[in-house]
Amino acid sequence: MSNDSIAFNRFDQITSRPNFSLDVEITEKSFRSLIGRYHLADRVVCQVRTERGICHQKHQVGYLGVDDQGIEGLIGGDCGDKYFKEHTIFGFEKNRIDAEIERRENLQRLLSYKKDFFVWAEKHTALKKEVTAIQQKVNVVYQGMPNIVLLFIYNAQKTKNWNLLVDVLRHSKAKNKMTSKWHIETLCTFSPFPTAQEIQSLLGKIENISSLFSEVCSLDIENLPTPKLKYYANKLSEWSDIENATEKNHKDLVKFISIESLENLYYVCSSTKDKYETIKTILKSSGHNNLDELKIKTFEKKIETKTNLKFDGCTVKQNKNSIKYAKGSF
Ligand SMILES: [Zn+2]
Repeated sequence: MSNDSIAFNRFDQITSRPNFSLDVEITEKSFRSLIGRYHLADRVVCQVRTERGICHQKHQVGYLGVDDQGIEGLIGGDCGDKYFKEHTIFGFEKNRIDAEIERRENLQRLLSYKKDFFVWAEKHTALKKEVTAIQQKVNVVYQGMPNIVLLFIYNAQKTKNWNLLVDVLRHSKAKNKMTSKWHIETLCTFSPFPTAQEIQSLLGKIENISSLFSEVCSLDIENLPTPKLKYYANKLSEWSDIENATEKNHKDLVKFISIESLENLYYVCSSTKDKYETIKTILKSSGHNNLDELKIKTFEKKIETKTNLKFDGCTVKQNKNSIKYAKGSF
C-alpha cells in the first residue's frame, strides 16, 4: 500500500499545488487517478463534465482527481458517486485513498498515545482513584440505609422520578371552626443517585481501557494490520465517554450526598428503627464518626424543625402511598 494520499481540509492546500487548475474539466474518459480527498469549510465548484455538460455544483466534500494530461481538478462527492460509479479505476482509487487515509489517521492516533504514554497512564490512574472514591461514598448509602430508603432509591432509579412526597397537616378555618387535613406535597427532588452496578461497570471500563492502552504501547504499532489499528484506535477513543460518565456521576453524587439533600430521606421512613438507621447513615456519610444516642437525637430534632418551617410550621410525615407504590413495584 502506498501512503501518499492526502486529506485536504483547506482549499488553499489544493490551489497551491502546481498541477491544479480551476479551468480543467474532468470527464469519465480523461480521468486517470486520485491524489486525495477533501472536506472543506468553503464551498467549491465541481469540475466534472458529463454528456449533460459541466457540473459546476458547489460542494464541500469530494476527491482531487488527475486527468490524462496530469492536470488536477475537483470531483464533487455527488458526481463521483453518480457518474464515476461504474468506473473501475475511480472505484479502485477511491478505496485506496480512503484506506490509506484511514490507516494513517489511526496510526497517528496510536503513535501519539504511545508518545504521551506517561501522561495517559497518569490520567487512567487518577480517574480510577476518583471512581473508587465515588464507589466508597455510594457504598456507605447502600450498606447503611434501611430497606425502606433503599426501595425508594431503587424505584426512583427505575422510574427516573426523584420527587419525594410527604403528608402535611394543614389547618384551615371554615364556618368558624378549625379543621385539619393531611395534604400530599412535594418535600424535594433528589439529584439522581448512581446504582452500584453503574459505578462497578465504570470501574471495569477504566481497567479495560487502561490495560488495552498498555498493550498497544508495547506493540510495534507501525507494522500492525489496518483492522487491528482501527480496532485499537476506536477502543481507546472511548476514553472521553468514560470521562464524561464519571463527571456526570460525580456531579449527581455530590448533590445527592450533601447533607441538605440526604436529610430528606428521613421522611421516607415511618418506624423509629428506620429513622434511626437513616440518620446514622446520613451522619456517617458526612464524615461523623463516634455517633451516640444524643448526637442522633439532636440531628433528628434539627431535621424535623427545619422541615416544619419549610411547611409553615405544619406537621410533616411520611406519605404512605408513595412508599407503598415503591414497594409494590418490586
Ligand atoms: Zn459535480
